[in-house]
Amino acid sequence: MSGFPTSISVLGSTGSVGTQSLDVARTHTIPVDLLTGSTNVALMEAQAREFLPKVVVMANHDAAASLKIALADTPVRVYAGADGICQAIQEVASPMVVNAILGEAGLAPTLAALRSAKRLALSNKESLVIAGEIVMQTAKDYGCELIPVDSEHSAIYQCLKGNRREDVRRILLTASGGPFFGYTKAQLEGVTLADALRHPTWKMGQKITIDSATMMNKGFEVIEAVHLFGVQASQIEVLVHRESIIHSAVEYIDTAVIAQLAVPDMRTCVAYALSCPERIEGAGSFLDLATIARLTFASPDEEAFPLLSFAKYAIMQKGATPACVNAANEVAVAAFLREQISFCQISDVVIEATKKAEENSKKAHSLEDILSCALEARTYANNLISF
Ligand code: MG
Repeated sequence: MSGFPTSISVLGSTGSVGTQSLDVARTHTIPVDLLTGSTNVALMEAQAREFLPKVVVMANHDAAASLKIALADTPVRVYAGADGICQAIQEVASPMVVNAILGEAGLAPTLAALRSAKRLALSNKESLVIAGEIVMQTAKDYGCELIPVDSEHSAIYQCLKGNRREDVRRILLTASGGPFFGYTKAQLEGVTLADALRHPTWKMGQKITIDSATMMNKGFEVIEAVHLFGVQASQIEVLVHRESIIHSAVEYIDTAVIAQLAVPDMRTCVAYALSCPERIEGAGSFLDLATIARLTFASPDEEAFPLLSFAKYAIMQKGATPACVNAANEVAVAAFLREQISFCQISDVVIEATKKAEENSKKAHSLEDILSCALEARTYANNLISF
């Protein structure tokens, strides 16, 4: 499949990547079949009135009931809940689906989209972190193209084009380093929620901004890359690059390195996932390297940010270990956002809860087993926090 999509579904349309996906749809007048959102009824009503999708799904029944009343004068159908999302994906059968749902909740919609669409533009990284092998196999079984939207993976995807996979030596996965780059473990003890929410280069949702500050996000991106590109975790080198201009690079056996550069803008990544291998007019600004003048690089401090190496450990354990890391991290970050635990306690909770769930998680293979291990890790994390 190539070229411009005839229509799209946007899952998680009220979030950060979701609204930027709708910017792309608006700019290129792409019809929208389906929108799904969490609980922001006012924003979803505005989106539904503008794009007039066939179906809109809200995360819970209360939000869906309010939206139904608000959209009573339109032909838009309103569904609710996780089952509603999967049913709607099947019903509207868009050729392209953008999945920008946050967290574990995005996994079932990913699998539903892979079974019914021709292409899935995947922004929900948890789908690959939790069930990477199952997701990749489902894409293969149903002949659905899976194109990453995450900026680093979009970059790697582009750098791999036209080259043989067996010629890849390493993937250089770039990281902004977050707001605490250069901090020692002792300095990190004193950081506040407001400090952690201040990301240097990317404007994103709260959860991923905290994950960037702890470097958990980069750990998840290592796991994503292992599944998407069929490489070993040991072939992925994380490289701190403060300017977020090089979005990642691929090193080949002949010593050549191919990198992808752009002004950081998620709309570029969404547009590429929809149009590739062709390219469509960009919405953001063009790169002015002479003005930027300098690009810098450094190795990450894995001692101060232990979740990066813990993610590599998790993917090497296979089974449900990465799913447990994700589940424990969702609990820990939510507690940090409520100012219930400190910044450094996020990694303590994630590592301890994952280790406690390890006996079962190493052996898990089916989706059911993986999700039950993740639930176990979630419970351990909650118990650690309430003490
Ligand atoms: Mg990223």
